[in-house]
Amino acid sequence: MSFLSIRGLHKSYGQTSIFSDIHCEISKGEFVTLLGPSGCGKSTLLRCIAGLTEVNGGQIFLDGQDLVPLSPQKRGIGMVFQSYALFPNMTVQQNVAFGLRMQKVSSADSKRRADEVLAMVELTDFADRYPHQLSGGQCQRVALARSLVTRPRLLLLDEPLSALDARIRKHLREQIRHIQQELGLTTIFVTHDQEEALTLSDRIFLMNAGRIVQSGDAETLYTAP
Ligand code: ADP
Ligand code: ADP
Repeated sequence: MSFLSIRGLHKSYGQTSIFSDIHCEISKGEFVTLLGPSGCGKSTLLRCIAGLTEVNGGQIFLDGQDLVPLSPQKRGIGMVFQSYALFPNMTVQQNVAFGLRMQKVSSADSKRRADEVLAMVELTDFADRYPHQLSGGQCQRVALARSLVTRPRLLLLDEPLSALDARIRKHLREQIRHIQQELGLTTIFVTHDQEEALTLSDRIFLMNAGRIVQSGDAETLYTAP
């Protein structure tokens, strides 16, 4: 069995089926991009994996463990959203350490681990600032640090670069890839931007209207036959 194995996943909102039979297999340490047009179900699939929305059928195994019965906190998954969703009244360091404090990690250890991941995203000097004092790119790096601090088994990135301008987008894209490789972290990156998908991933899953229609590396998918 693959590290992440999704089998026959089904999700509806009321009478509307978003997807009815998603299958995919992802290896440990792989960086996969889920590429497809707006509304095709990418976010919904990530939210199902993270446990932020209930599935209507099918199975999700992570490292051999069935995730479906587990609460989001028990899944060992980190997630970053397009909107950074930082706590405005907490400093950068408090934002990052928050998840650990929830897990009853001591204040000293939480602070040490927050500093570790803030160094990874090159924000050591910003630890005591508040979100409103940061640029969009810096806020997204805080959100990335916050998702890494709990040492997730799987990282889910939902259009994390879409709100940023082009120059920052490229820098952050490279930073994400670098950190992912350093940590050997299995990652699913959702985007509707073909260039992002082509430059980032080990493998691309093309999604359309609730189906994964094709998968392969950039060369295989985009080389004319
Ligand atoms: P994508 O991430 O590819 O843009 P989404 O997963 O956000 O697509 O959405 C897929 C479809 O599901 C869309 O038609 C969207 O309107 C619908 N949808 C998403 N969330 C909900 C919800 N909470 N209730 C009803 N419909 C939803
Ligand atoms: P994304 O940009 O991640 O694709 P959307 O803009 O599709 O997100 O959705 C934002 C929020 O609104 C999500 O929580 C989603 O579940 C909810 N949502 C999206 N479409 C619908 C819908 N048709 N009915 C109810 N809720 C929806």
